[in-house]
Amino acid sequence: MSEALLRVDGLVKHFPVRGGLFARDLERVHAVDGVSFEIGAGETLGLVGESGCGKSTTGRCILRLIEPSAGEVWFDGRSVTALDRHALRRLCRDMQIIFQDPYASLNPRMTVGSIIGEALVIHRLAKPGREFEDRVVHLLETVGLHADHLRRYPHEFSGGQRQRIGIARALAVSPRLIVCDEPVSALDVSIQAQVINLLEDLQEQFKLTYLFIAHDLSVVEHISDRVAVMYLGRVVEIAPAHELYTAPRHPYTEALLSAVPIPDPTVKRQRIVLQGDVPNPIRPPSGCHFHPRCPHAMERCRHEPPRLKTLAPGHLAACHLND
Ligand code: SF4
Repeated sequence: MSEALLRVDGLVKHFPVRGGLFARDLERVHAVDGVSFEIGAGETLGLVGESGCGKSTTGRCILRLIEPSAGEVWFDGRSVTALDRHALRRLCRDMQIIFQDPYASLNPRMTVGSIIGEALVIHRLAKPGREFEDRVVHLLETVGLHADHLRRYPHEFSGGQRQRIGIARALAVSPRLIVCDEPVSALDVSIQAQVINLLEDLQEQFKLTYLFIAHDLSVVEHISDRVAVMYLGRVVEIAPAHELYTAPRHPYTEALLSAVPIPDPTVKRQRIVLQGDVPNPIRPPSGCHFHPRCPHAMERCRHEPPRLKTLAPGHLAACHLND
């Protein structure tokens, strides 16, 4: 991996659950519970896990759209977590986000030109008038849309086109890192590949670095250099993509992989069906969080949390089976 552009160190986010007469903190949702990873410049790290595992919260804490409860985030050697509001706003130019829902993330009352150009105005990157319009048209064409889309409204576009508008908005400030928060989950399967291909082309063209969040491994397989798997607020395995797909070392990764369709009909893979749902993050299970659903759980797993251990260069997993 090239030198880290982004470093996440022991990130924690607990949300208070308030109740009672004085709205006191009664309990805490352990959304993110000590997540650490790095992403090299120009690299794509896939971050995968079921709904509610904390992956989107991790992405938002990195950008400080949500304030982390503890831990550090470093971008290009600078502590993001220590920045004041003013400095954070400047850093927003380097770190952008593409949201999951292309229907909800675009203001229906703004034209496409205003949506894409808003950040150009905020960061004073283009003078109003001809220069502004030329920049926005160039951004539209970069994501495969047309100049005559400039004065239209979001409802006039399909889901895939709206996600392209969201991508153009993120690109407007020439970022170096983009958090792609489930950017294709709300799209038809036929459109998903087009958007992923676009993101790959843009990465090459603009030397972008991606944190690509998804809830299943099949989506990130093509685009990721490395993949991190999250379960109940913790990273349970992280490895180079090919290694994770061919030789997973955590039972949860194995179960997720068993659900990924294989294009070759002669290759059979046995589906591992996990029992039950993801447990309540207010009261996560003791020891290994995965033990109530793990087909290999041992007595030790109920009491002793497994540590993330290096098993091969760049391949870490948190499971007692690897001891
Ligand atoms: Fe399963 Fe135990 Fe490994 Fe957890 S530590 S994944 S419960 S075998």
